[in-house]
Amino acid sequence: MELRGIGEFGLIHRIRKWINSSDPALIQGIGDDVAVIEMGTKVLLVTTDILIEGIHFDLSWMDPYPLGRKSLAVNLSDIASMGGIPKYYLISIGLPKNLPISFISSFYRGLKQEAKRFQVQLIGGDTSLSHKIIVNICLLGEGEKRNLLFRKGAKVGDDLFVSGKLGDAALGLKILQKKREIKGSEGLVKKHLSPCPRVELGQAIAKYHLATAMIDVSDGLLIDTSHLLEESGVGVLMWEDRIPLSRLYRKWVRSFSKDPLRFALSGGEDYELLFTASSNMREKITSLARSLKIPITRIGEILPKKEGLHIIRKDGKDYSPSHLGFEHFK
Ligand code: ADP
Ligand code: MG
Repeated sequence: MELRGIGEFGLIHRIRKWINSSDPALIQGIGDDVAVIEMGTKVLLVTTDILIEGIHFDLSWMDPYPLGRKSLAVNLSDIASMGGIPKYYLISIGLPKNLPISFISSFYRGLKQEAKRFQVQLIGGDTSLSHKIIVNICLLGEGEKRNLLFRKGAKVGDDLFVSGKLGDAALGLKILQKKREIKGSEGLVKKHLSPCPRVELGQAIAKYHLATAMIDVSDGLLIDTSHLLEESGVGVLMWEDRIPLSRLYRKWVRSFSKDPLRFALSGGEDYELLFTASSNMREKITSLARSLKIPITRIGEILPKKEGLHIIRKDGKDYSPSHLGFEHFK
């Protein structure tokens, strides 16, 4: 059987079974946004992400400065989804021989800017020749064991919330790929090139114990919801008309898809936080959203596992989506 037959998540599932790490200090290994290791009274958080030229970005539309920022941002988002504090990072890069030094210095300026903003320090890495640009960051963070949020933990009857607006980054990517200069759509393109990880929001949700489970929306709303459901052993019902869409998204989506929710449901790289919370937390969540000036929308309700993933359409009819979103190798 070929890799395409099992896909990215099928592969990770197998790796998890092949290796099966166990250690008394390992609170969370493979299966969440970050690994969690007990270290005295605190926990060490570890996450890593890879970006490859031609797969995750294309030099025809991605400049080195935003690439540097984004490389770190995608890792920061994983720490945010646990409610942790990012601290240190290592970066390994694969670069072609003919790459101008100015490209690399701009890349590192972007990296430095993002690191400064979120107060994380570079502590090392590795460098190698490669045919295509490859960037891999490993980010370390810390957290309090009693505050951390995992993909598991959602309970039947909980509300499902998401921060920000969905689909802008995926629609922005579509616009970049079509290489169409569309005046007025710059905001969408920017969402793709320079995502803003919700570190402060994640920490507040964890600190005030507002949620029962949390994940960041990196692969797309439906696919990341399905990961949360799987780890928590529950199902969900979502209301289509509650999915938060930006004004720009509403304006441009029809030019790129017949289905106006396509990018919001199945597009990736929003780096928003998706979390479940008991219904008696609604007021506190609303006031947190107001104080941080970040929209938080209640988009669904957690159901027993046997209900799977249901979406209620505007006309009241419900369906279970067959295609959840992007998956490598598929
Ligand atoms: P995210 O989208 O948050 O980066 P992934 O879907 O990439 O998460 O990964 C899910 C889980 O699988 C994580 O715990 C990650 O560390 C683990 N994982 C991913 N790829 C591998 C691999 N090649 N070997 C071991 N674990 C992996
Ligand atoms: Mg993640």
